[in-house]
Parts: sequence; C-alpha cells; structure tokens
Amino acid sequence: MLRMAPDMALAAPPLGVAVETDTLDAFELGIVPRGLAANHIKRFGHTRSVRLQARFSSVGRELGVERVTARFHSYSELKHTWMCGDEGIQFKISDYLEGAPDDVFESLAWYMLSKASRKGCAPGRSQRYLAYSRSRELWESVRGLYFQRSRNVDLDPLGDARDLRPAFAYVNSFYFAGRLPQLQLAWARESPRRRLGYYFEPLGLLAVNSALDSAEVPRYVLEFVIFHELLHHADSMNGRPRRRVHHTKGFREQERGFSHYHDSEVWLRRIVAGSQKKR
Ligand SMILES: [Zn+2]
Repeated sequence: MLRMAPDMALAAPPLGVAVETDTLDAFELGIVPRGLAANHIKRFGHTRSVRLQARFSSVGRELGVERVTARFHSYSELKHTWMCGDEGIQFKISDYLEGAPDDVFESLAWYMLSKASRKGCAPGRSQRYLAYSRSRELWESVRGLYFQRSRNVDLDPLGDARDLRPAFAYVNSFYFAGRLPQLQLAWARESPRRRLGYYFEPLGLLAVNSALDSAEVPRYVLEFVIFHELLHHADSMNGRPRRRVHHTKGFREQERGFSHYHDSEVWLRRIVAGSQKKR
C-alpha cells in the first residue's frame, strides 16, 4: 500500500461497539453472477446461522463466557463487531463467511471471543480463520458481492483523464519484462490521505486513488503508484505474502529504481497536502 500520511485508516468505532477488520490492506466483476450470493444465503443461511451460534456458544463456555450470541451481518468489508452489555456479548459476523467450513467458524469463535473477553488466544486456535480470511477460496466466492457493495471502488479502468490499462501495460513491460499477469485495475474513490493505491492479493486487485485521474498530474505519478503496488504483487508471486505489508529497506531500494522517483514523491506529497487543505 502506498501511503504518504500517518495511518488514519481506522476511524473510531461507534460507542460501545468494537470493530475487527480483517481485510488486508484494504480492500481490495463479477465472476459470481449477481444474485448467486443471495440464493446461496437463502439455501444455506439458516443452517449456517445455527452452526455459527453453536460454535460461539461452545467456545464461550470453554472461556467462561455465559451468554453469547452470534449472527451474520452484511457489512461491505470483511469485518466483525461485538457489543458487551447486560445481554452478554453479541457478535455480528461478516456474511462473507456464510459459506465457510465449520472449522473456520470454530477458529473464528476462538479468535473473536478471546478478543471480546480480553483473554489471550492460543495462536493455533485463530490460525485457521486468519488463513481463510485472506485466501482465494474465500475471496473468489464473494468477489461479485464484494464489488457490488464496495461503492468507492470503480472497476472501470478508464477514468476521466487517465486510463489505467496502458499505464499498467507500460510499467509491466518496462520494469517487469511483461511477466506480471493482468490484474483487476480499479480507481479508488477515497481520501488520498488514507492511501494513494493498494494491492489486494486474494482478489488480484490493484487500485489507484482517483486523485491521480487528472490531466494536471503527470502520467509518471500514476505509473509510479502502479509500480509501487506491482512491487508488492511481485513479492507475493515470489511466495512472500504477508498479512501486513512492510516496506523493507530492499523494497525501498527497488522503488528508487523508478525513473521519476523523486519527482513522483514530490507530487504525491503535494496531492496529500492539497487534500488536507480542502477538508
Ligand atoms: Zn506499499
């Protein structure tokens, strides 16, 4: 992810509600026809809800938490929330997990209940859920629904002033010898203060902030953001996927290989600073 400002991605949750987001850096169509997810929920929803509740209840008992409810909720991101009160702990679990196998529910129950009850969770317990939350298995199954709900992701690569396709093709051929496969390219309509671009591996999604879709911003700035994200992509292709993206010293060195590196940095800082003034 390319970010020029301190991390302000995590807004304060509403009072009394704790939020756990598991989308990698992002966020990051439709192979799944619309409606398929809805049918899926109709067919399996009830049983799944019952099983989810059963897992949370049994793990709750093991942790000494008496009253626990868990139900699915249609958040646009993969996130789960909980509320503690007189009624015990009430969880709302992202409905993207509705089709998940039972052992994922079990692992999720350990993960969430440990957080909510402030008890440590043995890493082995949460591993299955955490691996699933960033798997292609999950994201391919909810791809259509996810993009349907992500209102700030514009999947049309042709913007008002810039087209992401030739920019991607140029960077791929010039810096990566054309070896990288085609990705889903998108414009992200969000504050540049949050991030200027991101790459979401399980969906093969590369998104660029729409602040760069402007004739006033040189083309190489757009190409630099794509280059940065493609370095992450190349990393993940080399078998180094990570939950959190780290810009290592080696990564920064590779980044400086971009032909307009310094000018691009100056432009990006200017764009972020400009968006701050407008607020
Ligand atoms: Zn990055």
